Amino acid sequence: MALTLYNTLGRKLQVFEPIRSGEVGFYGCGPTVYNYAHIGNLRAYVTHDTLVRTLRERGYTVTHVMNITDVGHLSGDNDDGDDKMVKSAEERGKSVLEIADFYTKAFFNDTERLNILRPTVVCKATEHVGEMIALIKRIEANGFTYQSGGNLYFDITKLSAYGELALLNPDERKAGARIEIDANKRNPYDFVLWFTRSKFENQALVWDSPWGRGYPGWHIECSAMSIKYLGEQFDIHAGGIDHITIHHTNEIAQSEAATLKHPWVKYWVHNEFLIQDKGKMSKSAGGFLTLQTLLDAGYDALDYRYFLLGAHYRSQVQFSYEALDGARNARKSLTDRIRVLAEKAGGLPEGGAEIGGKAAAYLEAFNKALDEDLNTPRALAELWGLLRDSAVPGADALRAAFAMDAVLALTIAVEARRGADKGNPEEIAEIEALLAERGEAKKVKDFAAADRIRNTLKERGILLEDGPKGVTWRRL
Ligand code: AMP
Ligand code: ZN
Repeated sequence: MALTLYNTLGRKLQVFEPIRSGEVGFYGCGPTVYNYAHIGNLRAYVTHDTLVRTLRERGYTVTHVMNITDVGHLSGDNDDGDDKMVKSAEERGKSVLEIADFYTKAFFNDTERLNILRPTVVCKATEHVGEMIALIKRIEANGFTYQSGGNLYFDITKLSAYGELALLNPDERKAGARIEIDANKRNPYDFVLWFTRSKFENQALVWDSPWGRGYPGWHIECSAMSIKYLGEQFDIHAGGIDHITIHHTNEIAQSEAATLKHPWVKYWVHNEFLIQDKGKMSKSAGGFLTLQTLLDAGYDALDYRYFLLGAHYRSQVQFSYEALDGARNARKSLTDRIRVLAEKAGGLPEGGAEIGGKAAAYLEAFNKALDEDLNTPRALAELWGLLRDSAVPGADALRAAFAMDAVLALTIAVEARRGADKGNPEEIAEIEALLAERGEAKKVKDFAAADRIRNTLKERGILLEDGPKGVTWRRL
C-alpha cells in the first residue's frame, strides 16, 4: 500500500516518498495567538493530526513542528493592516506577552479536547528572532533584498521560481496585479523581511538587527523555525488554502533564496475552508465560533472531530448545528455499538494478537481509503461496515476498530472499556432490577421514587441515559 497525497506544488496526487527513509519532517503553520482559535482554524489542526497519525501508523518517525505566532502578523497578509498581537493587547489592556500566553494555553486546551496530538516541537516566534535574523542575512548575502523606507524587503524579481506554488504567471508578477499598498515596495509582490521604521510607533516587541532596531515580517518565522528543526529541505508543509498565495509562496521564496536549494519542501498539503452561511469563518470578521461555544451548547469536542472526519479535507464544509447534530448522533451510535460489542465479548480483546479474517479485510479497506489522499469519510464508512457486520466476531471487530482509532482518535478503546467494565453478573442483575423498579415508578408517575433510584445509582458511579430505545446505563 502506498500513501498518496495531493501536492499543491504541481496540483496533482503523488505517492508519498520521504527524503530520508523511514523519517518524515512535517511542518504545519500554527496559530496567531491574539484570540481564541475558531472552529475553522481547528479544522486545519485536525487535518494535520490525521496526516501525522496516518504517517505514524505507516511506521514513519514523524517530527511534527508547529510555530506559535506571537509577533509580526498583520491583519492583512500582504504587509497591510494592524499588528494583530498589539491591537489585541491594547483592546484588552494587557501586555502582548500576556495575551500570547493566555491564547496559547487556550489553543492547546482546545487541541487536547479534540484529541490532537501535541506536536514534537512547538516553537514561539519571539524565541527565534536570532534564527530569523541569521536567515535574513543569508538572503541578503545572496542578493535578494533591498532597503526602502527603513524596512528590508524581499525582491521577488530576483527569484525566477517565485510564485510556483500559487501558479502565478510571470507576466502577471511583473505587471503588479496586486493592489499597491506600500509605496516603498519596488514590486507589489515584494514583502517585508524586517520592519524598522514602521507604521507602528507602539510596537511592543523590538530587537536589534543589522538593519536597525525593529521586528520581523510574518513569513520569515516559518522559514527560520522549520529549517532549524527540520533541516534545509524537508517532506511536508501544511496549512489552510488561504496561505497558498502569499504566506507559503513567500516562505518558499525566503527559504530557497537563503539555501539556494530547490525544492525547499517536497509536498504541500492544504485544507479547504470551513464556511458558515455568511461565508468563510474568520476571526477578523467577528462572530466566529469557538470550540467552547460548541461545548457550551452541550456538544462534546469529539462530536466536532467526527463532523470534520466526515468530510474530505480538500472539500469545503459548511458548518451548521443540524450537521453537528448528525455527527453527534452518529458518534453516539458508534460508542453504543462499541460498548455492546465489548459487553458481549465479555471483556476487552488481548492486544498484540493478529487481526484475521473479515476484520482484517475491513482494516485493509480502511487503510486503503486513507492511502487515497486521506479519504476519511470512506475510512469512517469502513469502520461502520466492520461494526455492523454480524459475521465478524466481536473481539476481532474491536481489535480492528482499535487499530482504526489510532488515526480517527474517537476514543473507541475508552468506550469499549466502559462496556467491558460493567461489572460482575450479580451487580449487573442488581442494577437491572433497580432500572426495572424505576421504570415501574415512572409508569405510575411516581417521579420522586424514579429520581431516588437515579440518584442512588449515581452515587455508585452509574449514570442513566434515557434514550428513544429506553434507558441505558454506564459507569462514570
Ligand atoms: P491563523 O491563526 O489565522 O494563522 O490560522 C491558523 C490556520 O487555520 C491556518 O492554517 C489557516 O489557513 C487555517 N484557517 C483559517 N481559516 C480557516 C477556515 N475557515 N477553515 C479552515 N481553515 C482555516
Ligand atoms: Zn507559516
